[in-house]
Amino acid sequence: DYKAISTPKRTKEILQKYGFSFKKSLGQNFLIDVNILENIVKHAGVTEEAGAIEIGPGIGALTEQLARHGDRVLAFEIDQRLLPILDDTLSPYDNVSIIHKDILEADVHSLIKEHFAEGQSIKVVANLPYYITTPILMKLLMEKLPVEDITVMIQKEVADRMAAGPNTKSYGSLSIAVQYYTEAKVVMNVPKTSFMPQPNVDSSVLRLTLRNEPPVQVEDEDFFFDLIRSCFAQRRKTIMNNLSRHFKGQIEKEDLRQALENAGIEPKRRGESLSIQEYAELDQAIRAYL
Ligand code: SAM
Repeated sequence: DYKAISTPKRTKEILQKYGFSFKKSLGQNFLIDVNILENIVKHAGVTEEAGAIEIGPGIGALTEQLARHGDRVLAFEIDQRLLPILDDTLSPYDNVSIIHKDILEADVHSLIKEHFAEGQSIKVVANLPYYITTPILMKLLMEKLPVEDITVMIQKEVADRMAAGPNTKSYGSLSIAVQYYTEAKVVMNVPKTSFMPQPNVDSSVLRLTLRNEPPVQVEDEDFFFDLIRSCFAQRRKTIMNNLSRHFKGQIEKEDLRQALENAGIEPKRRGESLSIQEYAELDQAIRAYL
């Protein structure tokens, strides 16, 4: 009969049986609350036909729920010590493949081709290792994987930044980078007591729904994101101030002022008040002076 992996008792038993000790450096905080896991799977929209990609299965707490509710599961785990454990805990499920790889190094495109049916709906679902949340998410987004959405447990502060809109404390270049590729929403907050061991930070589940097309058209994405980062370089300073610094020796101050006017943006405003559409206008106006 089914006995969930993700209870404090069962988790302790498994860890003890294998003499497993947590590696802080790998961000190992395992979920021990079945209700939270069921909620994550629900928010992620994992249904019978959907395939799932998981990053960091640990001892299989979330993997098990994905295997029960979805179709196939492809999970990437970097820690070799977890492989025999996963072999054991996930033995009731024949729809799980564990890949022993650093997700940042993995060729996810080829593995998707290998493991899922052409055109199958695929969801990324994970309780991410917090030390590399942003690199992992940016990799998944920039590689333009054929996935519909990404539902991840991450540090609350980072989730808030990724989902933030203009004129809020959390809004910054990360918000815009993430929202260029996705619609971002914090769907739940999760208490520290749901993890073993308990993390030092608060956690939230962030849902990213991938866009078919970016919300703005820009000529050069690298230039666009550099420009945005420069406008947040000194948060307390005006946009004019940050831009003059960024384009020093490249574009005259007067030309920058003109570019701002052409884009319909007051030079006294701060970077945190501009929407992604305004940044796109600014990008176009500034490129005219390059
Ligand atoms: N999914 C499990 C759970 O919810 O209980 C474990 C989540 S734990 C926060 C993060 C997991 O990611 C750990 O199992 C860790 O070993 C693994 N991990 C850390 N860095 C990784 C990387 N670069 N690539 C793949 N897995 C990684």
